Amino acid sequence: MTDSAGEDILDLVVVGGGVMGLFTACQAAATGARVAVLEAGRIGDPRTASYGRTRSYRRDYLDTQYVRLADEAMRLWTEFEGDRGVRALVRCGCMNIAAETVTPDLDGTYGRRSTAVMRSAGVAADVLDAAQLRARFGYLRADEAHLDPGAGVVDLAAVTRALLGALVEGGVAIREGVEVLGIVDDGEVVRVATGAGEVRARALVITAGHGTNDLLHRLEGCRLQIPLTRDRPSEAKYFVPHPADRAQFTADRMPVIAYLDTGIYVHPIVDGVIDAVKVGYYNPPDVPRGTTTIRNIAEFVDQCMPGLQGADVSDVLDVDQCDYDLVSDDEFVLGLVPGYQNVSVGVGWRGTGYKFAPWVGRVLCQLALKTGTEYDITRFDPARFGDRVDDRASALLPDEVH
Ligand SMILES: Cc1cc2nc3c(=O)[nH]c(=O)nc-3n(C[C@H](O)[C@H](O)[C@H](O)COP(=O)(O)OP(=O)(O)OC[C@H]3O[C@@H](n4cnc5c(N)ncnc54)[C@H](O)[C@@H]3O)c2cc1C
Repeated sequence: MTDSAGEDILDLVVVGGGVMGLFTACQAAATGARVAVLEAGRIGDPRTASYGRTRSYRRDYLDTQYVRLADEAMRLWTEFEGDRGVRALVRCGCMNIAAETVTPDLDGTYGRRSTAVMRSAGVAADVLDAAQLRARFGYLRADEAHLDPGAGVVDLAAVTRALLGALVEGGVAIREGVEVLGIVDDGEVVRVATGAGEVRARALVITAGHGTNDLLHRLEGCRLQIPLTRDRPSEAKYFVPHPADRAQFTADRMPVIAYLDTGIYVHPIVDGVIDAVKVGYYNPPDVPRGTTTIRNIAEFVDQCMPGLQGADVSDVLDVDQCDYDLVSDDEFVLGLVPGYQNVSVGVGWRGTGYKFAPWVGRVLCQLALKTGTEYDITRFDPARFGDRVDDRASALLPDEVH
Protein backbone atom coordinates (compact mmCIF):
# COMPACT_ATOMS: atom_id res chain seq x y z
CA MET A 1 0.00 0.00 0.00
CA THR A 2 1.13 3.59 -0.66
CA ASP A 3 -0.13 6.89 0.71
CA SER A 4 -1.31 9.87 -1.38
CA ALA A 5 2.31 10.90 -1.95
CA GLY A 6 3.09 7.43 -3.28
CA GLU A 7 5.12 6.43 -0.20
CA ASP A 8 5.31 2.78 0.77
CA ILE A 9 3.25 1.87 3.85
CA LEU A 10 3.47 -1.58 5.42
CA ASP A 11 0.63 -3.25 7.31
CA LEU A 12 2.75 -3.93 10.37
CA VAL A 13 6.14 -3.15 11.83
CA VAL A 14 7.28 -5.27 14.77
CA VAL A 15 10.07 -3.89 16.96
CA GLY A 16 11.94 -6.64 18.83
CA GLY A 17 12.91 -9.92 17.18
CA GLY A 18 12.59 -12.36 20.10
CA VAL A 19 10.15 -15.24 20.01
CA MET A 20 7.16 -12.95 20.69
CA GLY A 21 7.97 -10.59 17.85
CA LEU A 22 8.76 -13.38 15.41
CA PHE A 23 5.49 -15.19 16.13
CA THR A 24 3.58 -11.91 15.71
CA ALA A 25 5.23 -11.26 12.36
CA CYS A 26 4.71 -14.87 11.29
CA GLN A 27 0.98 -14.80 12.09
CA ALA A 28 0.53 -11.49 10.27
CA ALA A 29 2.48 -12.62 7.20
CA ALA A 30 0.31 -15.74 7.02
CA THR A 31 -2.72 -13.48 6.42
CA GLY A 32 -0.95 -11.84 3.48
CA ALA A 33 0.00 -8.71 5.46
CA ARG A 34 3.17 -6.82 4.53
CA VAL A 35 5.42 -6.89 7.60
CA ALA A 36 8.86 -5.75 8.76
CA VAL A 37 10.74 -6.77 11.91
CA LEU A 38 13.22 -4.27 13.38
CA GLU A 39 15.75 -5.79 15.77
CA ALA A 40 18.33 -3.74 17.67
CA GLY A 41 20.90 -6.54 17.82
CA ARG A 42 20.69 -9.79 15.93
CA ILE A 43 18.00 -12.41 16.06
CA GLY A 44 19.05 -15.30 18.26
CA ASP A 45 21.59 -13.28 20.25
CA PRO A 46 22.56 -15.30 23.36
CA ARG A 47 21.91 -12.21 25.51
CA THR A 48 18.17 -12.27 24.72
CA ALA A 49 15.56 -14.24 26.64
CA SER A 50 14.49 -16.26 23.62
CA TYR A 51 17.93 -17.81 23.17
CA GLY A 52 18.65 -21.22 24.70
CA ARG A 53 18.30 -24.93 24.11
CA THR A 54 15.16 -25.92 26.00
CA ARG A 55 12.34 -24.17 27.86
CA SER A 56 9.64 -25.96 29.85
CA TYR A 57 6.12 -25.80 28.57
CA ARG A 58 3.48 -26.78 31.11
CA ARG A 59 -0.05 -26.04 32.24
CA ASP A 60 0.38 -26.35 36.01
CA TYR A 61 -0.45 -22.80 37.05
CA LEU A 62 -2.20 -21.70 40.24
CA ASP A 63 -4.68 -19.63 38.26
CA THR A 64 -7.35 -21.05 35.96
CA GLN A 65 -6.91 -18.44 33.24
CA TYR A 66 -3.19 -19.16 32.92
CA VAL A 67 -3.94 -22.92 32.80
CA ARG A 68 -6.40 -22.36 29.96
CA LEU A 69 -4.06 -20.04 28.07
CA ALA A 70 -1.18 -22.51 28.41
CA ASP A 71 -3.50 -25.22 27.10
CA GLU A 72 -4.51 -23.02 24.17
CA ALA A 73 -0.86 -22.22 23.50
CA MET A 74 -0.13 -25.96 23.32
CA ARG A 75 -2.87 -26.29 20.69
CA LEU A 76 -1.28 -23.45 18.72
CA TRP A 77 2.20 -25.00 19.02
CA THR A 78 0.82 -28.22 17.56
CA GLU A 79 -0.78 -26.25 14.73
CA PHE A 80 2.56 -24.48 14.11
CA GLU A 81 4.37 -27.83 14.00
CA GLY A 82 1.89 -29.12 11.43
CA ASP A 83 2.06 -25.96 9.29
CA ARG A 84 5.85 -25.79 9.32
CA GLY A 85 6.67 -29.51 9.37
CA VAL A 86 8.85 -29.13 12.47
CA ARG A 87 9.04 -30.79 15.88
CA ALA A 88 8.97 -27.83 18.27
CA LEU A 89 7.71 -29.65 21.36
CA VAL A 90 9.44 -32.58 23.03
CA ARG A 91 6.41 -34.23 24.67
CA CYS A 92 8.14 -35.82 27.64
CA GLY A 93 5.63 -34.66 30.28
CA CYS A 94 6.16 -32.36 33.26
CA MET A 95 6.03 -33.66 36.81
CA ASN A 96 5.80 -31.72 40.09
CA ILE A 97 7.29 -33.67 42.95
CA ALA A 98 6.99 -33.34 46.73
CA ALA A 99 8.77 -34.98 49.66
CA GLU A 100 7.47 -34.67 53.21
CA THR A 101 10.99 -34.16 54.58
CA VAL A 102 11.36 -31.07 52.38
CA THR A 103 7.80 -29.65 52.40
CA PRO A 104 6.00 -31.25 55.39
CA ASP A 105 2.63 -29.70 54.49
CA LEU A 106 1.94 -31.79 51.39
CA ASP A 107 -1.51 -30.25 50.98
CA GLY A 108 0.10 -26.85 50.55
CA THR A 109 2.60 -27.95 47.89
CA TYR A 110 2.64 -26.52 44.40
CA GLY A 111 1.93 -29.95 42.90
CA ARG A 112 -1.31 -30.52 44.83
CA ARG A 113 -2.52 -26.96 44.45
CA SER A 114 -1.80 -26.69 40.73
CA THR A 115 -3.38 -30.09 40.04
CA ALA A 116 -6.58 -28.91 41.75
CA VAL A 117 -6.56 -25.76 39.60
CA MET A 118 -5.85 -27.73 36.43
CA ARG A 119 -8.70 -30.14 37.14
CA SER A 120 -11.09 -27.26 37.75
CA ALA A 121 -10.08 -25.99 34.30
CA GLY A 122 -10.77 -29.41 32.79
CA VAL A 123 -7.09 -30.38 32.30
CA ALA A 124 -6.16 -33.84 33.59
CA ALA A 125 -3.03 -34.68 35.61
CA ASP A 126 -1.85 -38.09 36.86
CA VAL A 127 -0.92 -38.53 40.52
CA LEU A 128 1.87 -40.97 41.39
CA ASP A 129 2.62 -42.24 44.90
CA ALA A 130 6.03 -43.10 46.37
CA ALA A 131 5.93 -46.73 45.20
CA GLN A 132 5.00 -45.78 41.63
CA LEU A 133 7.74 -43.16 41.62
CA ARG A 134 10.34 -45.70 42.81
CA ALA A 135 9.28 -48.12 40.10
CA ARG A 136 9.33 -45.59 37.24
CA PHE A 137 12.00 -43.10 38.30
CA GLY A 138 14.50 -44.97 40.46
CA TYR A 139 16.83 -41.94 40.66
CA LEU A 140 14.20 -39.87 42.54
CA ARG A 141 13.39 -39.68 46.23
CA ALA A 142 9.89 -38.20 46.66
CA ASP A 143 6.59 -39.10 48.29
CA GLU A 144 4.30 -38.08 45.47
CA ALA A 145 4.23 -36.47 42.05
CA HIS A 146 1.71 -34.79 39.76
CA LEU A 147 2.37 -35.50 36.10
CA ASP A 148 0.98 -33.60 33.12
CA PRO A 149 1.78 -36.05 30.31
CA GLY A 150 0.98 -33.45 27.62
CA ALA A 151 3.69 -31.03 28.80
CA GLY A 152 7.46 -31.12 28.20
CA VAL A 153 10.20 -28.94 26.73
CA VAL A 154 10.34 -26.69 23.67
CA ASP A 155 13.29 -27.09 21.30
CA LEU A 156 14.31 -23.45 20.89
CA ALA A 157 16.69 -23.83 17.96
CA ALA A 158 14.02 -25.71 15.99
CA VAL A 159 11.49 -22.95 16.73
CA THR A 160 13.80 -20.10 15.70
CA ARG A 161 14.72 -21.91 12.47
CA ALA A 162 11.08 -22.61 11.64
CA LEU A 163 10.01 -19.05 12.39
CA LEU A 164 12.76 -17.53 10.28
CA GLY A 165 11.85 -19.90 7.43
CA ALA A 166 8.20 -18.84 7.66
CA LEU A 167 9.16 -15.16 7.68
CA VAL A 168 11.35 -15.50 4.60
CA GLU A 169 8.55 -17.35 2.78
CA GLY A 170 6.06 -14.69 3.90
CA GLY A 171 8.25 -11.93 2.46
CA VAL A 172 8.85 -10.33 5.87
CA ALA A 173 11.69 -7.82 5.88
CA ILE A 174 13.97 -8.61 8.83
CA ARG A 175 16.29 -5.73 9.67
CA GLU A 176 18.94 -6.34 12.31
CA GLY A 177 21.22 -3.82 14.01
CA VAL A 178 18.51 -1.15 13.76
CA GLU A 179 18.37 1.77 16.18
CA VAL A 180 14.89 3.21 16.66
CA LEU A 181 15.21 6.96 17.16
CA GLY A 182 11.58 8.05 17.39
CA ILE A 183 8.02 6.88 16.76
CA VAL A 184 5.01 8.96 15.72
CA ASP A 185 1.47 7.63 15.37
CA ASP A 186 -0.74 10.18 13.59
CA GLY A 187 -3.80 7.95 13.91
CA GLU A 188 -3.46 6.67 10.33
CA VAL A 189 0.18 5.77 9.91
CA VAL A 190 2.91 4.92 12.41
CA ARG A 191 6.26 6.39 11.43
CA VAL A 192 9.31 4.74 12.93
CA ALA A 193 12.48 6.80 12.50
CA THR A 194 15.58 4.61 12.54
CA GLY A 195 19.27 5.16 12.02
CA ALA A 196 18.75 3.69 8.53
CA GLY A 197 15.71 5.74 7.49
CA GLU A 198 12.00 5.83 8.22
CA VAL A 199 9.67 2.81 8.24
CA ARG A 200 5.91 3.44 7.88
CA ALA A 201 3.14 1.06 8.73
CA ARG A 202 -0.55 0.93 9.61
CA ALA A 203 0.34 -0.66 12.95
CA LEU A 204 3.26 -1.08 15.33
CA VAL A 205 3.86 -3.91 17.78
CA ILE A 206 6.54 -3.53 20.48
CA THR A 207 7.98 -6.85 21.73
CA ALA A 208 11.34 -5.62 22.91
CA GLY A 209 11.70 -7.28 26.31
CA HIS A 210 13.91 -5.12 28.51
CA GLY A 211 14.07 -2.49 25.73
CA THR A 212 10.30 -1.87 25.90
CA ASN A 213 10.24 1.15 28.19
CA ASP A 214 12.90 2.89 26.14
CA LEU A 215 10.76 2.45 23.01
CA LEU A 216 7.62 3.66 24.80
CA HIS A 217 9.62 6.70 25.83
CA ARG A 218 10.42 7.32 22.14
CA LEU A 219 6.73 7.09 21.13
CA GLU A 220 5.58 10.68 20.77
CA GLY A 221 3.06 11.67 23.46
CA CYS A 222 3.31 8.36 25.35
CA ARG A 223 3.56 8.50 29.14
CA LEU A 224 3.31 4.76 29.74
CA GLN A 225 6.26 3.15 31.51
CA ILE A 226 5.85 -0.43 32.66
CA PRO A 227 7.25 -1.27 36.10
CA LEU A 228 9.62 -4.04 34.99
CA THR A 229 12.41 -5.61 36.98
CA ARG A 230 14.94 -8.26 36.05
CA ASP A 231 15.63 -11.66 37.51
CA ARG A 232 17.43 -14.83 36.47
CA PRO A 233 18.01 -18.31 37.92
CA SER A 234 20.48 -18.03 40.80
CA GLU A 235 22.11 -21.33 39.79
CA ALA A 236 21.99 -23.60 36.74
CA LYS A 237 24.04 -26.77 36.27
CA TYR A 238 24.51 -29.52 33.72
CA PHE A 239 24.75 -33.09 34.99
CA VAL A 240 26.21 -35.66 32.60
CA PRO A 241 25.30 -39.06 34.03
CA HIS A 242 27.54 -42.11 33.76
CA PRO A 243 27.00 -43.73 30.31
CA ALA A 244 25.46 -46.81 31.97
CA ASP A 245 22.78 -44.60 33.59
CA ARG A 246 22.18 -42.21 30.69
CA ALA A 247 19.12 -43.93 29.21
CA GLN A 248 16.95 -43.26 32.25
CA PHE A 249 17.55 -39.51 31.94
CA THR A 250 16.54 -39.09 28.28
CA ALA A 251 13.28 -37.42 27.28
CA ASP A 252 11.69 -40.66 26.10
CA ARG A 253 11.79 -41.86 29.73
CA MET A 254 12.26 -38.78 31.90
CA PRO A 255 9.81 -35.86 32.13
CA VAL A 256 10.62 -32.30 33.16
CA ILE A 257 10.83 -32.57 36.94
CA ALA A 258 9.84 -29.55 38.98
CA TYR A 259 9.79 -28.89 42.68
CA LEU A 260 8.55 -25.34 42.47
CA ASP A 261 8.12 -25.00 46.23
CA THR A 262 11.91 -25.14 46.36
CA GLY A 263 12.56 -23.19 43.12
CA ILE A 264 13.97 -26.23 41.29
CA TYR A 265 13.31 -27.47 37.76
CA VAL A 266 15.08 -30.24 35.87
CA HIS A 267 15.15 -30.79 32.09
CA PRO A 268 15.96 -34.22 30.63
CA ILE A 269 18.58 -35.05 28.01
CA VAL A 270 17.09 -34.47 24.55
CA ASP A 271 18.94 -36.29 21.77
CA GLY A 272 20.26 -33.82 19.20
CA VAL A 273 19.40 -30.86 21.44
CA ILE A 274 21.19 -31.23 24.77
CA ASP A 275 23.36 -34.08 26.04
CA ALA A 276 23.07 -33.35 29.76
CA VAL A 277 20.40 -33.07 32.44
CA LYS A 278 19.89 -29.36 33.23
CA VAL A 279 18.98 -28.34 36.77
CA GLY A 280 17.98 -24.75 37.55
CA TYR A 281 17.31 -23.01 40.83
CA TYR A 282 15.31 -19.78 40.61
CA ASN A 283 12.94 -17.46 42.48
CA PRO A 284 9.42 -18.48 41.52
CA PRO A 285 7.38 -15.27 41.77
CA ASP A 286 4.24 -17.07 42.92
CA VAL A 287 5.61 -19.26 45.76
CA PRO A 288 7.23 -18.17 49.03
CA ARG A 289 10.98 -18.58 49.04
CA GLY A 290 13.31 -19.95 51.71
CA THR A 291 10.69 -22.06 53.48
CA THR A 292 12.18 -25.48 52.67
CA THR A 293 15.31 -27.46 53.42
CA ILE A 294 16.61 -26.90 49.87
CA ARG A 295 18.75 -23.80 49.31
CA ASN A 296 20.72 -24.80 46.23
CA ILE A 297 21.05 -27.45 43.53
CA ALA A 298 23.45 -29.66 45.50
CA GLU A 299 20.94 -29.90 48.35
CA PHE A 300 18.17 -30.79 45.89
CA VAL A 301 20.25 -33.60 44.40
CA ASP A 302 21.15 -34.92 47.87
CA GLN A 303 17.58 -34.85 49.14
CA CYS A 304 15.44 -35.56 46.05
CA MET A 305 17.47 -36.79 43.10
CA PRO A 306 20.25 -39.00 44.47
CA GLY A 307 20.47 -40.81 41.13
CA LEU A 308 22.38 -37.78 39.81
CA GLN A 309 25.11 -38.12 42.43
CA GLY A 310 28.32 -39.12 40.72
CA ALA A 311 27.40 -37.41 37.44
CA ASP A 312 29.86 -34.93 35.89
CA VAL A 313 28.67 -31.48 37.00
CA SER A 314 29.36 -28.11 35.35
CA ASP A 315 27.82 -24.64 35.35
CA VAL A 316 25.45 -23.79 32.50
CA LEU A 317 27.39 -21.12 30.62
CA ASP A 318 26.39 -21.67 26.98
CA VAL A 319 22.75 -20.57 27.46
CA ASP A 320 20.48 -18.71 29.89
CA GLN A 321 22.95 -15.88 30.53
CA CYS A 322 20.02 -13.49 30.32
CA ASP A 323 17.28 -12.08 32.54
CA TYR A 324 13.55 -12.46 32.41
CA ASP A 325 11.19 -9.55 32.76
CA LEU A 326 9.02 -9.37 35.88
CA VAL A 327 6.12 -6.93 36.25
CA SER A 328 5.33 -5.30 39.61
CA ASP A 329 1.86 -6.91 39.76
CA ASP A 330 3.11 -10.23 38.37
CA GLU A 331 0.78 -10.25 35.35
CA PHE A 332 1.57 -10.23 31.64
CA VAL A 333 1.37 -6.89 29.83
CA LEU A 334 -0.43 -7.39 26.53
CA GLY A 335 -2.65 -5.04 24.58
CA LEU A 336 -2.95 -1.62 23.00
CA VAL A 337 -0.78 1.15 24.40
CA PRO A 338 -3.30 3.47 26.13
CA GLY A 339 -4.17 6.42 23.92
CA TYR A 340 -3.04 4.71 20.67
CA GLN A 341 -5.19 2.69 18.28
CA ASN A 342 -2.28 1.45 16.18
CA VAL A 343 0.38 0.58 18.77
CA SER A 344 0.37 -2.62 20.87
CA VAL A 345 2.87 -3.99 23.35
CA GLY A 346 3.67 -7.42 24.79
CA VAL A 347 6.12 -7.79 27.69
CA GLY A 348 6.48 -8.98 31.30
CA TRP A 349 6.52 -12.74 30.76
CA ARG A 350 8.08 -13.39 34.17
CA GLY A 351 10.31 -16.31 33.23
CA THR A 352 7.36 -18.28 31.97
CA GLY A 353 6.60 -16.71 28.61
CA TYR A 354 8.14 -18.93 25.97
CA LYS A 355 5.38 -21.53 26.12
CA PHE A 356 2.78 -18.81 25.43
CA ALA A 357 4.58 -17.39 22.38
CA PRO A 358 2.23 -18.66 19.61
CA TRP A 359 -0.73 -17.34 21.59
CA VAL A 360 0.96 -13.97 22.26
CA GLY A 361 1.83 -13.69 18.57
CA ARG A 362 -1.74 -14.46 17.60
CA VAL A 363 -3.19 -11.83 19.96
CA LEU A 364 -0.72 -9.13 18.91
CA CYS A 365 -1.33 -9.90 15.24
CA GLN A 366 -5.10 -9.67 15.75
CA LEU A 367 -4.76 -6.34 17.56
CA ALA A 368 -2.44 -4.95 14.90
CA LEU A 369 -4.57 -6.03 11.94
CA LYS A 370 -7.71 -4.92 13.83
CA THR A 371 -9.51 -8.18 13.33
CA GLY A 372 -10.42 -8.28 17.04
CA THR A 373 -9.15 -10.98 19.38
CA GLU A 374 -11.25 -13.90 20.55
CA TYR A 375 -9.33 -14.02 23.84
CA ASP A 376 -10.13 -12.14 27.04
CA ILE A 377 -6.98 -10.12 27.65
CA THR A 378 -8.55 -7.56 30.00
CA ARG A 379 -6.36 -8.45 32.97
CA PHE A 380 -3.19 -7.94 30.89
CA ASP A 381 -4.20 -4.44 29.72
CA PRO A 382 -1.15 -2.08 29.70
CA ALA A 383 -3.58 0.73 30.61
CA ARG A 384 -3.46 -0.48 34.22
CA PHE A 385 -0.16 1.39 34.40
CA GLY A 386 -1.25 4.18 32.07
CA ASP A 387 -2.65 6.87 34.30
CA ARG A 388 -0.57 6.15 37.36
CA VAL A 389 2.77 5.95 35.67
CA ASP A 390 4.36 8.89 37.43
CA ASP A 391 3.42 7.64 40.91
CA ARG A 392 4.63 4.12 40.23
CA ALA A 393 7.87 5.18 38.57
CA SER A 394 8.78 7.44 41.47
CA ALA A 395 8.01 4.65 43.96
CA LEU A 396 10.71 2.47 42.38
CA LEU A 397 14.42 2.94 42.77
CA PRO A 398 15.97 4.25 39.54
CA ASP A 399 17.85 1.04 38.77
CA GLU A 400 14.71 -1.06 39.23
CA VAL A 401 13.08 0.46 36.17
CA HIS A 402 14.44 -1.29 33.10
C1 LIG B 1 16.96 -18.14 31.95
C2 LIG B 1 15.55 -18.14 31.46
C3 LIG B 1 14.77 -19.30 31.57
C4 LIG B 1 13.46 -19.32 31.12
N1 LIG B 1 12.75 -20.48 31.21
C5 LIG B 1 11.50 -20.53 30.67
C6 LIG B 1 10.80 -21.76 30.64
O1 LIG B 1 11.29 -22.80 31.10
N2 LIG B 1 9.56 -21.77 30.09
C7 LIG B 1 8.99 -20.65 29.54
O2 LIG B 1 7.86 -20.74 29.04
N3 LIG B 1 9.65 -19.47 29.55
C8 LIG B 1 10.88 -19.39 30.09
N4 LIG B 1 11.57 -18.21 30.09
C9 LIG B 1 10.93 -17.00 29.56
C10 LIG B 1 11.01 -16.88 28.05
O3 LIG B 1 12.24 -17.31 27.56
C11 LIG B 1 10.76 -15.40 27.72
O4 LIG B 1 9.52 -15.01 28.30
C12 LIG B 1 10.67 -15.14 26.23
O5 LIG B 1 11.79 -15.66 25.54
C13 LIG B 1 10.57 -13.62 26.01
O6 LIG B 1 10.59 -13.36 24.63
P1 LIG B 1 10.58 -11.88 24.11
O7 LIG B 1 10.49 -11.97 22.62
O8 LIG B 1 9.57 -11.08 24.84
O9 LIG B 1 11.97 -11.26 24.60
P2 LIG B 1 13.49 -11.35 24.01
O10 LIG B 1 13.82 -12.73 23.57
O11 LIG B 1 14.35 -10.72 25.02
O12 LIG B 1 13.38 -10.48 22.72
C14 LIG B 1 13.31 -9.06 22.76
C15 LIG B 1 14.08 -8.58 21.56
O13 LIG B 1 13.90 -7.17 21.45
C16 LIG B 1 15.14 -6.62 21.06
N5 LIG B 1 15.14 -5.20 21.41
C17 LIG B 1 15.29 -4.63 22.64
N6 LIG B 1 15.25 -3.28 22.54
C18 LIG B 1 15.06 -2.99 21.23
C19 LIG B 1 14.95 -1.77 20.50
N7 LIG B 1 15.03 -0.57 21.09
N8 LIG B 1 14.78 -1.84 19.15
C20 LIG B 1 14.70 -3.05 18.53
N9 LIG B 1 14.82 -4.23 19.17
C21 LIG B 1 14.99 -4.21 20.52
C22 LIG B 1 16.17 -7.44 21.82
O14 LIG B 1 17.45 -7.33 21.23
C23 LIG B 1 15.58 -8.83 21.69
O15 LIG B 1 16.03 -9.50 20.53
C24 LIG B 1 12.89 -18.15 30.55
C25 LIG B 1 13.66 -17.00 30.43
C26 LIG B 1 14.96 -16.99 30.87
C27 LIG B 1 15.76 -15.72 30.73
